[in-house]
Amino acid sequence: MIIRKKFKFEGAHIVRGCSSDRCKKSLHGHSYVVEVFFTSNQLDNGQMIYDFGLTKGTIRDIVDSFDHAYSAWNKESDDFMNFIKANSDRYVVMPVSPSAEGYALLLLYIIDKIMQATEMNNGEGNVKVNSVRVHETDTGYAEAFRDDLDWFPYRLEDVHFSNPIKEEWKNPLMYDQLIAYSSGKEQTKPFKNPVITD
Ligand SMILES: [Zn+2]
Repeated sequence: MIIRKKFKFEGAHIVRGCSSDRCKKSLHGHSYVVEVFFTSNQLDNGQMIYDFGLTKGTIRDIVDSFDHAYSAWNKESDDFMNFIKANSDRYVVMPVSPSAEGYALLLLYIIDKIMQATEMNNGEGNVKVNSVRVHETDTGYAEAFRDDLDWFPYRLEDVHFSNPIKEEWKNPLMYDQLIAYSSGKEQTKPFKNPVITD
């Protein structure tokens, strides 16, 4: 069985190196739709794969980081990035291109790490992100599957969120905590789902 949770963000980018002049030479934006697909080996105490409400914390904050933000490939020139940093609060610097494919790989990678760093408290099985689908337009999307992570040979530390983005997270330290747990520096899972008592 597979379940899907949908998120949205309004994001700006330039896709350097692509075929279309409009896309590679001009800053522009899209209304993105992100679909996150989960699987598990068993149902939880409510006979769900994973309660959709549980995706409204850390996972939603990560996707929302890209909303009203400029997403830059870390290959952008210093000149351009210095201008962005000086004139735009919300930006993300990422090790992959901000193409739909790049976003899908990046979000699959980060959300998978979040799931591994989350303490399950309602009888969930081994809940995994099966894939992440990123719609750039009404007619085009990219979907990254776990096997595609071979195309993402990077670390969490290679993604940088600007401070104004972090300050809007429910827990501004959550990405640092995720890095600490994923690298093994911290043994206790930083994210805890609520304990259900009745
Ligand atoms: Zn575009």
